[in-house]
Amino acid sequence: MALICLIVVSARASANESVKVQLRWTHQFQFAGYYMAKEKGFYQKAGLDVELIAGGPHALRPIEDLLSDKVDYAVTGSGVVIDRMEGKPVVALAAIMQTSPIVWITLKSSDIRGPMDMADRKLLIMPPPESAELLTMLAREGIRREQLNIVPTSYRIEDLIDGEADAYDGYISNEPYLLTQRGVEYNIINPRDYGVNFYSDVLITTERLARKDPAQVRSFRDATLRGWGYALNHMEETVKLIHRRYAPGKSLDHLRYEARTIRELVLPDLVELGHMNPGRWQYIADSYRDLEMTQADANLDGFLFRAEQGKVSYKLAMIVAATSLLLLTIMAMVIFKFRSLSTRLALANVELEELARTDQLTRLKNRHGFVEMVPVVLNQSRRHGASSTFVMFDIDYFKSVNDRYGHLAGDAALLAFAKILSANRREHDVVARLGGEEFGLLLTGAGEDAAVEVTRGILNEIRALKIVAPDAKGSFSITASAGIAEASGELEAFWGAADKALYRAKEGGRDSYSIAPGDTVHEPPVETNAS
Ligand code: GH3
Ligand code: MG
Ligand code: MG
Repeated sequence: MALICLIVVSARASANESVKVQLRWTHQFQFAGYYMAKEKGFYQKAGLDVELIAGGPHALRPIEDLLSDKVDYAVTGSGVVIDRMEGKPVVALAAIMQTSPIVWITLKSSDIRGPMDMADRKLLIMPPPESAELLTMLAREGIRREQLNIVPTSYRIEDLIDGEADAYDGYISNEPYLLTQRGVEYNIINPRDYGVNFYSDVLITTERLARKDPAQVRSFRDATLRGWGYALNHMEETVKLIHRRYAPGKSLDHLRYEARTIRELVLPDLVELGHMNPGRWQYIADSYRDLEMTQADANLDGFLFRAEQGKVSYKLAMIVAATSLLLLTIMAMVIFKFRSLSTRLALANVELEELARTDQLTRLKNRHGFVEMVPVVLNQSRRHGASSTFVMFDIDYFKSVNDRYGHLAGDAALLAFAKILSANRREHDVVARLGGEEFGLLLTGAGEDAAVEVTRGILNEIRALKIVAPDAKGSFSITASAGIAEASGELEAFWGAADKALYRAKEGGRDSYSIAPGDTVHEPPVETNAS
């Protein structure tokens, strides 16, 4: 889960998504925020690779391009609310201009002073609903529909200057500058002055994108507004950038004029950038209905993008990622701890088991280890058809060793005997301290004769050994007796037979061996060895 969230989050952060934005008009200060968001890396930071597409008369209705995925976002007029009312799934993200820049422009020399003078006059206007605020104003001021003489605009201010038309539908941020340049005196009839105040330069996208990727929509919107904040606080820098990179055809002066006017429409000092009031949108929608530009219900549910939409899922992803990471870490730590604990336990168990099979003084197998091991070894050697022999040793008069030289001397004697046994042990033999001063030797694959030879050798070695008492009580030597039995059948059986043989050797005078079954006690093998 953590991984998935991290992938989602980091994919958003790393791979730049390509985004196309349809601007409303040709490049000019009107889109300053978009340029600066790009220039200052705000889009980049939001993981967006933004392409700004210049508009113009052909791009006044970007809805089709949006809905057919040709572009992802668009800047348009408040007329977009009509599209929404008529069921087109478009969503408004921000209103850049709190007041529309669209005004009526007349020549000072004309007799038109206000809306009332515009009845039956030739009015050049952009195709509806582009300049609806102009018509709304006229309607509110009492001009009846049949009194309107509307002609589609030529987009040429010359038509006004030359007297081809009586009023021109223009941008307060643009045409006044051009007219002043030419020394033409003009009049502005601004809907705002007549109580008609529409939003303009509305940033829109499709409902589909807003639902599918609210985080991107939110990021794009936020980066754009940041761009606008930057542009309006650094107007000279912005003007120069636009002149250099986007609109070399517009003079710096023209752009500066535009910047000043647009700033007054965006109202960055009074209103939060991009702010949209649902009530104002309702009023705009009602105005379009009053103008009979649409018959559709003025229901604006879902028209405004909720700024929280994107934030929530992104935040949620981060929270889920962080929480899962934490849980994973804890789990990993617990598992690691548990594993190392169980490994140590397992090791400890092995050690304990080994301990349970080992005699602590001599490090030979103890009785338990011997009993466990012998059948395994015998099974193997019997499979090869070989017989084996079991020899049981017991140190003679060991009690008196302890008594005369001390317990430590007794231990030294046990160790010495163990050492001799080990030295005589061949690869597959088993040597053990069966208890006290009693030792066992399983001679694997050895018959009676071989066993006798080994036994005699061991008895000779121990007899020959001088054992030094650790506490300087002098040195001493020991002897041992042995019982030999063929290691066939069950362990208990040949163990018992060897034990009996050993008893016979003791009875016979010690320092000797006896072979089961039978009564023969073999004399101390010294002479035999010497022969
Ligand atoms: P025998 O010749 O008949 O075998 O006489 P013994 O004295 O060897 O036999 P007994 O069974 O009477 O004595 C065995 C002694 O071995 C008794 C005990 O004190 C001693 N012993 C047993 N285990 C140890 C040990 O680990 N260290 C020491 N020093 N002595 C031990
Ligand atoms: Mg004994
Ligand atoms: Mg003994």
